[in-house]
Amino acid sequence: MPGQAPQERNKNFKEVPYGLSEEQALIEAARCLECKKQPCIDGCPVEVDIPAFIDLILQKDYAAAARKIKETNSLPAICGRVCPQEEQCEAKCITGKAKNGTPVAIGYLERFVADYERDNNLVQLPKIAPSTGRKVAIVGSGPAGLTVAGDLVKLGHDVTIFEALHKPGGVLVYGIPEFRLPKNIVQAECDFMAQMGVKFVNSAVIGKTDTIDELFGMGFDAIFVGTGAGLPNFMGIPGENLIGIYSANEYLTRSNLMRAFDFPTYDTPIIKGKNVAVLGGGNTAMDSVRTALRLGADNAYIVYRRSEKEMPARIEEIHHAKQEGVQFHLLTTPIKYIDDGEGKVKEMECLRMELGEPDASGRRRPVPIEGSNFIMKIDLVVVAIGNSSNPLVQKTTPGLEVNKWGNIIVNEETMQTSRKGLYAGGDIVTGGATVILAAGAGKTAARAMHKYLMEEVKK
Ligand SMILES: Cc1cc2nc3c(=O)[nH]c(=O)nc-3n(C[C@H](O)[C@H](O)[C@H](O)COP(=O)(O)OP(=O)(O)OC[C@H]3O[C@@H](n4cnc5c(N)ncnc54)[C@H](O)[C@@H]3O)c2cc1C
Repeated sequence: MPGQAPQERNKNFKEVPYGLSEEQALIEAARCLECKKQPCIDGCPVEVDIPAFIDLILQKDYAAAARKIKETNSLPAICGRVCPQEEQCEAKCITGKAKNGTPVAIGYLERFVADYERDNNLVQLPKIAPSTGRKVAIVGSGPAGLTVAGDLVKLGHDVTIFEALHKPGGVLVYGIPEFRLPKNIVQAECDFMAQMGVKFVNSAVIGKTDTIDELFGMGFDAIFVGTGAGLPNFMGIPGENLIGIYSANEYLTRSNLMRAFDFPTYDTPIIKGKNVAVLGGGNTAMDSVRTALRLGADNAYIVYRRSEKEMPARIEEIHHAKQEGVQFHLLTTPIKYIDDGEGKVKEMECLRMELGEPDASGRRRPVPIEGSNFIMKIDLVVVAIGNSSNPLVQKTTPGLEVNKWGNIIVNEETMQTSRKGLYAGGDIVTGGATVILAAGAGKTAARAMHKYLMEEVKK
């Protein structure tokens, strides 16, 4: 896909790929074999009818193609940008199985039709069923919560989303940077929900502002918890409290949601390091390190304790980061931060690692090489080594069962928790996963909640 050149884009926050032109989309769509078996659909967690939407592209009815996707996925402009298609639909594409074949770029096509529909004001409100009189509360406005809200409001339920932050969207607004997912797109999806009748209550921290039981007491008949995995993990090494050491969550939230990158229009403080080390190898680490470059770092390093092969980030993101000038320190782990005498970090002591046998995660275990210590000069560290579940709702909801990591336990067929009328899904159940899996959990929950509301809640 055409996009900004690496040395231009690493200095701005504008979206990296431009999207397909109509001509390119038509050429790409014509590569679909429309095979009988349609394994691409099996590869999609929300079962988008991929051959059908591609066929509508070939008929040049792009808005109808977008609507076809929306029959099962409410967030195509978002998923077209951030879904790991290479491991899902595109991994199963028969066109890609041919010798030297590349799969049909399903994600690019999804993005193309969703953008076409929005940019040409062709978005249509779906039919909304007559009011059922049932009230639903959704806690958290990430892809899981938004999906539940969209599905239930269409069925005639009265839906309110409670969101702790001042804007809805979850990781889509506070985590994933503007250069990968422009925030006006997430806002457009939320506006669309509002037009369908979903009510948004922002800056409402459930468990503090009101508890789950208080929401039931206020007349909500069923509640969905989609609070995500936003609690940052740290390494617990000496010096972690020094100035200049951020969690990826804080760093990305300041930059994305609070738009620190847009200074002086937005006056959000953020430390703009010159030598920045980002710890970790996932999408969050890639987003942080590319943000650091854009905020003016001379050197932006990924420090990861395994090799590139074990990195959980999408291949495309690793590729983009390298093109933009990110330097990779692989098989390396920090063991201590050193201060400048005034409480700020100035160096990081590291150890080199080698790979041993696979561990519980299936990846080869990193083993320290004794005596391999060395010092990195840095003035900013971003810790992106994973997140845990947000604990507040679990702590303030008696009878809600959680596993040893604090994730909410659900019946996977219905997403019902141990409490009647209380459902959960997305990262709060699985731990950090993907947008599409969170949306898929939202769909499952919405189906079960509808049944519960209609069969067990008497009005
Ligand atoms: C930096 C980063 C990059 C990523 N990149 C990708 C990617 O490229 N592709 C991909 O598929 N996935 C990616 N992911 C993962 C993906 O974003 C998540 O799996 C997904 O957003 C989970 O959705 P969710 O709805 O479960 O939770 P979230 O998106 O985390 O939303 C949860 C919401 O609940 C709110 N909340 C929490 N507690 C409360 C409370 N007590 N009361 C009210 N509201 C509350 C939070 O403020 C938040 O808005 C990335 C994650 C991160 C952090």
